[in-house]
Amino acid sequence: MNRRKPVRKQPSQGPNRRQLLRKELAKSVSIQRSESSSPLSIDAFRPEADDDCICGSGIRFKDCCSSKLHEGPFAGERRLIDQEQFDEALTACRLHLSWYVLAHQAHTVPLLNAGDPQGAQLLSVDIDALDEILGLLHFLYRKTDQVDQFGPVLEELHSAIHDSRWANRIALREANWWSIDRNDNSNAAKSLRRVDVFNCSDAEVLAGYFSQHSKGMTFKERVEFIKRIIDCASDQELILQYRGVLAISYLLVSDRETASRLFRSAIESYRLSSAEDKSMFGDHLLAQSLFLLGSLEADKDLIKDAESCFQTFVNAENEIPLTDFAKSDYRMMVGRCRALMEEPETAIGAYDESLGICVLPLTQIYKSEALINIGQPDTARDLLTEVDKASAPVENLHDYAVAWTLLAATTQNQADIETAKSELKSLETLEPYFAQQRDHWLIQLLETVPNAKSGTLTNIIRSINRYIILNPNFFGLGVNLNSLLTDLEHKLDGPKVR
Ligand SMILES: [Zn+2]
Repeated sequence: MNRRKPVRKQPSQGPNRRQLLRKELAKSVSIQRSESSSPLSIDAFRPEADDDCICGSGIRFKDCCSSKLHEGPFAGERRLIDQEQFDEALTACRLHLSWYVLAHQAHTVPLLNAGDPQGAQLLSVDIDALDEILGLLHFLYRKTDQVDQFGPVLEELHSAIHDSRWANRIALREANWWSIDRNDNSNAAKSLRRVDVFNCSDAEVLAGYFSQHSKGMTFKERVEFIKRIIDCASDQELILQYRGVLAISYLLVSDRETASRLFRSAIESYRLSSAEDKSMFGDHLLAQSLFLLGSLEADKDLIKDAESCFQTFVNAENEIPLTDFAKSDYRMMVGRCRALMEEPETAIGAYDESLGICVLPLTQIYKSEALINIGQPDTARDLLTEVDKASAPVENLHDYAVAWTLLAATTQNQADIETAKSELKSLETLEPYFAQQRDHWLIQLLETVPNAKSGTLTNIIRSINRYIILNPNFFGLGVNLNSLLTDLEHKLDGPKVR
């Protein structure tokens, strides 16, 4: 997903980045012009009329960008987007792209070939600017319901700039297209395999690679890779995300102390960063981090903070264009915070709000736990039986087994105990952290039957209350932002939620 800095709808913050880049380009070209040789005209690089257009539309050049090529830099796609004229914006964006590709060939490549140091500078500008235009183009292909055609556009643009940084950006955009728009992670992983990760210092590309390829890494490799991403990153949300992922990596090998310390310092740094550097996704991660740290340390103040952060997302006055899934999910998290603050009744209130928007298996599972805690195990059992396990994400099955365990420990009912044992046994868990917890509960359940002692039960219930959700997607790895926001562009430009 695109994590570039917001640029649209913020005129008060000065000219947008691309305008600055363009100015720099123009300045550079005019410097060159003032010297003896004038720069080459972009017309010297025009394709043949019947060739495919430079913009990757698949349309012949003469029928696409040819006639208005020189209007490229002034095509005004952003203004058209603001006016919601997406078809016109797409045409304008293609024009801008074609013009820029030719300008790169006419102005930057000759400087590079001449060994002029300005060439290298201009090359970096071109890579950033063209990547940004590609981001807009992707958005417009989505808005005009032809996002399936965007993959071939990227393929066409591979050769626009001959530089590994450009090749990496294309690989990342291709991977995002495969995974977000085509829901095909195996092709996304394939795209990113082209990246030479050892020589890459683009944090977003490395993060993209990590999210597709971390599964096969050892703990040591994982930690080293995450640290590299953090070192290369300048974006506060990316830094928070990967410091969180680092903390979780330690937690998953049962090193709670290191995990807590890492979470605490990640949260502090993000909170200390300037308002301009914060973002909506960053704030989302902050809420998650506070929740995780609060749960880890059983610290109610942190959980209270987390609750108010989650609450901010659903406050109507913030006008965040959330999907029903996200509206439901954030309310569930509010409920989860209340449950951890030992307020099961108000937690149930939030879960009911969440379920009223859309029925997420996890909300049903958590509501069952809260029902058990207020002494309504029968209602809880009914609700658990209603959960559609087949539609639940696989990581929810862990929570599902935990809820049955809590129910069994509470009711001492033989059938409940059998269900809990079989759910715990069926968990396919690889991470030591999960395995330890599961075995701990399984053993206690086995011991509990048939002569339960109240002490054992208390232990189970206490350890389950300290249980926290952790799954590979929890901390934004592979999170599909499309599932959270009705308008992904809003994320790029989004208001701060605090
Ligand atoms: Zn074109």
